[in-house]
Amino acid sequence: MKNQISRRNFFFKTVGAGAGLCLIPSVSGTSFMQSGKGSAPLIITSHTNLTGQNAMEAGWEILKSGGTAVDAVERAANVIEVDPEDTSVGYGGLPNERGVVQLDASFMDGSTYSAGAVGCLENIKTPSSVARKVMEHTDHVLLVGTGALEFARAWGFPEENLLTEKARKIWLRWKEELSPKDDWGAPEHLQNLVKKEAYWRDFPQIENHYGTTNVLAIDASGNIAGCTTTSGLSFKLNGRLGDSPIIGAGLYVDNEVGAAGATGRGEDVIKSCASYYMVLRMKDGRTPQQACEDALHMIVDRYRKVNPEFFPSEKFVAINKSGELGCAIMKGGRNPEMSVRSTGGFRKYEGIVAFPGK
Ligand code: ASP
Repeated sequence: MKNQISRRNFFFKTVGAGAGLCLIPSVSGTSFMQSGKGSAPLIITSHTNLTGQNAMEAGWEILKSGGTAVDAVERAANVIEVDPEDTSVGYGGLPNERGVVQLDASFMDGSTYSAGAVGCLENIKTPSSVARKVMEHTDHVLLVGTGALEFARAWGFPEENLLTEKARKIWLRWKEELSPKDDWGAPEHLQNLVKKEAYWRDFPQIENHYGTTNVLAIDASGNIAGCTTTSGLSFKLNGRLGDSPIIGAGLYVDNEVGAAGATGRGEDVIKSCASYYMVLRMKDGRTPQQACEDALHMIVDRYRKVNPEFFPSEKFVAINKSGELGCAIMKGGRNPEMSVRSTGGFRKYEGIVAFPGK
């Protein structure tokens, strides 16, 4: 595992750096210090692949020339949404159980305390842009289903089939593997001859139903904006809304404090109002890193009396208005990362696993 920092180490080094300083692990694995004042303008995304990096550069182009956080966030989110290879966001996202791609997205502008969102939106590649239109051109916050599609049409968004061949094949494989009690899959007399391992190797996405992106930015005027966009939980029930389009759950922005976003099992994020909670924690003086961890602990605490062994998969990211960063994941063997672009260039910020070994 790259540049692993234990929870204890992390806090030791952070506290040891003194107030106003935080530890930022770099891509190369060596740590360097960044002023607690941060380096706004900046833009971050929970996406850590090459598309995430490209998205950061696209957003940065806007921020560096004095553009708004809202414009930068939208531009960056669009880069990720239109990537056909990404099976978790926008075009190419994995469909619901019926094979239909239904997208969720939310947008929030801290400078005007405005928010907009769309849920179960079909046929539009860039739901974040439709969410922005809801935010800026209606007196509503959330449009869903056919209403959201009609609204997008009215604004001239082109309609297209979002189900790529890759996503369709994954969905069909999922259907075939779903149950031995239905008639999908090889004929019964051939079933024991089918090499199952190859299925899982070729379609690892079948096992991981999660994937979303959060984009958060601060512009040169100190205004903060954020967006969360996703194709949602793969193979979800038709009509299911996740946390991503729910303001306060998948996203929250407060110009006076900072911003937070969530990915992972949306049902928990909705019940815990996790993004709002993280922003409230930062308002109470917690760093973005601490706020992300606090929210994960809060979720586990809620389940303690019900099922103490339940540690749902979630990853949280946060920034405060000074440009400090936070990122934490519930469990797993690798520290979570997020992509960051600021005047210092592009880098990855490495957070921590809140419950290692779970
Ligand atoms: N949070 C998203 C949802 O529940 C899924 C994800 O982030 O993986 O729809």
